[in-house]
Amino acid sequence: MRVIEQQKNAVFKSLTELADAHCHLDIIHDAGLIRKAIERGVISMVTNGVDIKSNMKALELADNKNIFAALGMDPEHIVGVPEHELDRIVEFNLDLARQNRNRIIGIGEIGLDYKNEEWRQMASRQKLVFVRFIKLAAELDLPISVHARSALKDVFQVLEEEHAEKVHLHYFEGDEKDAELAVKRGYMISVPPIESSKRRRMIASTPIENLMAESDAPVVGNSPMAVEQSVRLVAEAKSIDFEGAAAALTNNTKGFFGFGRMQHGGLIRI
Ligand SMILES: [Zn+2]
Repeated sequence: MRVIEQQKNAVFKSLTELADAHCHLDIIHDAGLIRKAIERGVISMVTNGVDIKSNMKALELADNKNIFAALGMDPEHIVGVPEHELDRIVEFNLDLARQNRNRIIGIGEIGLDYKNEEWRQMASRQKLVFVRFIKLAAELDLPISVHARSALKDVFQVLEEEHAEKVHLHYFEGDEKDAELAVKRGYMISVPPIESSKRRRMIASTPIENLMAESDAPVVGNSPMAVEQSVRLVAEAKSIDFEGAAAALTNNTKGFFGFGRMQHGGLIRI
């Protein structure tokens, strides 16, 4: 009897597959952490590029089995480069994504960040680049992973003006009202492994079909394994069990990014 119970548990455990909708594997220097996450059931991870170096690394890491790449340029690397070099760098990254269209599953990390006055002052520069990547995603028919620190209102506005469709709002920091607008537009929202009462209320009022889980490792979680905590937050806020939450969130992430389209090695099955 006990043996049967153990076997049942073993089978059940192996079915709890987790998907990390947003992380940065290029800056996790201990490859053992990534391996361990896969062993623990984090079977799919979307690693996001933020500049030329990390985009190249994301392409290198993507096996399109467990690790999938999104290429982009995040606000930090837009405000951080000299104005006269920006265009050349943007063009390089856009071309890199075009040339590797069949090896990537999304455009990201892109977006706006008004973390301080200096960065807010550079809103128009940030928006110009953000828009170019949104247009690229439409051209390549790929979803986008969007960063929106202290800039959710402007992000919503740009996305609407650009008629962006397949949108993932990563590390969502909005409230229930913001989430309602996102859901109305068909966007996906992802939950990082950080608890707050505002986030809990947002999760509780948002349909699970619009939610995904992310670790944002190593920026927020230490490794993609932290996505377990994000799943737990969703399970608790929605008063459902961990396995149920995991199954729904993993399914949403797979569906949104279309992992099923990718064949191991990076070729698209047609
Ligand atoms: Zn990120």
